[in-house]
Amino acid sequence: MQDHGARLFDNHGRELNYLRLAVTDRCNLRCFYCMPEEGIKYLPKKELLTFEEIERLVRILADLGVSKVRLTGGEPFVRTDLMVLVRQLVEIPGIRDIHITTNGVLTAPHIPELKALGIASVNLSLDTLDRERFRIITRRDSFDRVMKCFDSLLEHEIPFKINTVVMQDRNIEDIIPLASLTRDHPIDVRFIEEMPFNGEGTHYPELTWTHAKILDHLRSHFPDITRIPDPPFATANHYHIPGHKGRIGIIAAFSRTFCGTCNRIRVTAQGMLRTCLYDEGTLNLKTLLRSTTDDGMVKNALLKALKSRAVDGFEAEARRRSQQPATESMSTIGG
Ligand code: SAM
Ligand code: SF4
Repeated sequence: MQDHGARLFDNHGRELNYLRLAVTDRCNLRCFYCMPEEGIKYLPKKELLTFEEIERLVRILADLGVSKVRLTGGEPFVRTDLMVLVRQLVEIPGIRDIHITTNGVLTAPHIPELKALGIASVNLSLDTLDRERFRIITRRDSFDRVMKCFDSLLEHEIPFKINTVVMQDRNIEDIIPLASLTRDHPIDVRFIEEMPFNGEGTHYPELTWTHAKILDHLRSHFPDITRIPDPPFATANHYHIPGHKGRIGIIAAFSRTFCGTCNRIRVTAQGMLRTCLYDEGTLNLKTLLRSTTDDGMVKNALLKALKSRAVDGFEAEARRRSQQPATESMSTIGG
């Protein structure tokens, strides 16, 4: 994989080098914080970007300066032949690393090939280590398959992070056992504030489990937990428990404390560009890609959109035409 040397900046001087691409809005779980249990309207297949369209878009973005791609969704492995796309993307000049965020249910059989293709890392979503709580939170009985994915990632030495959404009355008892995974394993366990992206709106009048409260809770069990430097562009605040092999992260996704260094753009399952998680889509890339074979036109439209980026998630939310707060399911945005 080569480095193109091109660099892309937004109107606030932030470098944009990271694309999060939702390859589907479909999912085989129904996590409480992400989707309603029933009544989800999935996009018809023709509304999704094809693999050819995705490859073209990623080539164009790589030319502009994007070097990192994360495949997400919905559940990426629910998309038929996802590995065909992964094989195409690793060949694109300028794309240095490819990451995948997955719920782990269908992932284990693909791990040897992901390793062979040089996948940079996997984020595995896991909110509990208890099978029954897993069933309640995800509304599906797939805990064993997810743990198989966990074991296989360790076995194949693919760097991975655990993503845990912290939910009042659902998985507070899991915070310490999940954090304890860092004792023996060189992994990051990241606790995420619950956002209102569940297709319904906020679950609580006020968010109880803020990043500060999560940290207090961790500190009550691990009094020596210490703040360590964050890697550049990190959304998580990083911590380490003395003697542990891995690290802890806390992501203030609801409080939005990380916008100042945000280096990411999103493309949703229906091919909309989002320059912020909290905006409602600023460019219809699917229509554009289908209306022209001229990559220059696509580049110009992208540059225009990326030069009018909101300064932070609060401004992006305020700019929404509907004036409604952001509530759509994370499965369509790509978490
Ligand atoms: N299906 C894959 C998975 O679960 O890892 C990828 C898509 S999922 C939308 C990406 C990430 O978004 C997951 O780690 C999930 O925990 C997180 N997420 C979804 N809804 C959320 C919410 N309302 N608040 C905070 N994080 C959320
Ligand atoms: Fe599916 Fe991921 Fe949303 Fe859970 S968080 S419902 S696994 S898309």
